[in-house]
Amino acid sequence: MDLRESTQDREFREQVRVFVEGALPGDIRGRVLDFKRLEREDYVRWQRILYEQGWGAPGWPSDHGGTGWNALQRVVFEAQRQRFLPGILTMDEWWCQGYSEPGAGSDLAALSTRAQRQADTYVINGQKMWTSFAHWADWIFCLVRTRSEGKPQDGISFLLVDMRTPGVSVKPIRTLDQGSDICQVFFDDVVVPAKNLVGQENQGWAIAKYLLGHERTNMAGVGMCKRLLSRLEHFARSERKRGKPLMEDIRFRDRLAKLEIDLLSHEWSLLRLTSLERSGNAIGPEASILKIRGSEIQQELAALLMECAGPYAIPYVAQALEPGYTGETAGGDHLNALAAQYFDLRKVSIYGGTSEVQKNIIAKSHLGF
Ligand SMILES: Cc1cc2nc3c(=O)[nH]c(=O)nc-3n(C[C@H](O)[C@H](O)[C@H](O)COP(=O)(O)OP(=O)(O)OC[C@H]3O[C@@H](n4cnc5c(N)ncnc54)[C@H](O)[C@@H]3O)c2cc1C
Repeated sequence: MDLRESTQDREFREQVRVFVEGALPGDIRGRVLDFKRLEREDYVRWQRILYEQGWGAPGWPSDHGGTGWNALQRVVFEAQRQRFLPGILTMDEWWCQGYSEPGAGSDLAALSTRAQRQADTYVINGQKMWTSFAHWADWIFCLVRTRSEGKPQDGISFLLVDMRTPGVSVKPIRTLDQGSDICQVFFDDVVVPAKNLVGQENQGWAIAKYLLGHERTNMAGVGMCKRLLSRLEHFARSERKRGKPLMEDIRFRDRLAKLEIDLLSHEWSLLRLTSLERSGNAIGPEASILKIRGSEIQQELAALLMECAGPYAIPYVAQALEPGYTGETAGGDHLNALAAQYFDLRKVSIYGGTSEVQKNIIAKSHLGF
């Protein structure tokens, strides 16, 4: 395995840096750096800029072969690609992920939302839970039960549902940071064309597992950790303890150094796995290791950021996260969002599969339990 950067890699890195510096709108950049809330329009605007650059979906394979599908299935799949991929790239259509349900989170195969085949449609009844951004979504990709007999995993199908279909309703859930980006989605006799089935009936589990593997690799969160770390270093220079910048406090520096080392080794693990994937190996349970470490480091960084601000991190004004807020706060504008950020990041060790469940996966595959 060769982890050295080639000249091409270096040129690409530089190209990305120059592009982002020039193309990322200043208002979005400011909001992200100050941990302010982003609006739907902010996400869409940035995605369109990436799309114009040809970087709308870097992870999509250029070749979809090797599925063993018959000719008709391939035509259906092609039609789905033509129908849906352009809207995803330009973000004209916002998608959400309908996997979890009450009683089927970690034990996802226990899901009970039912889709019954009726002529050339499916009729869906049930409820999804913790669906991120469902209140903004135009479409949801859903795991549904199409067979009750046999192994639970073998009775699950993957369906695409237009959120405007009669019978779909969305109820946002208030979160610890006073946000409402996650929702419950209810399906009451929702009629969906059978052509919206992805792959074959009762074989949705394999698709879901494939997607979750990629989701977990993305959740390594190296970029997010670096952003938090650079914010932390900035605060450590400006915030003072007993008259001196926090950065000069030896105990604080120790903790900062440990986190920097953890992040560096985490980044190398990600590079190592990416290099394996590049040489044709599928990423398996290693994605779980990345997810656990990424969650831990993000949460530790957020906790240390809170400590930097000391008591000023405690008075939490939720409105201060909204763009354009001009009211007063205890410690100044730059400290407003720290508590919300800290609470919001509790989620990273839960979504995409909890840390405990990732440890089970690692134990089973690597330790043989
Ligand atoms: C912010 C956020 C966004 C989310 N977005 C989405 C989304 O867009 N789409 C979607 O489908 N889902 C989404 N989820 C749901 C997420 O995938 C689930 O919350 C997660 O899989 C855990 O399931 P659960 O909440 O039902 O908890 P449970 O499965 O009930 O787990 C409760 C506790 O028990 C532990 N536990 C459970 N089973 C085991 C076991 N076998 N061994 C050891 N410990 C165990 C867990 O680790 C956890 O601590 C989101 C969740 C959050 C918090």
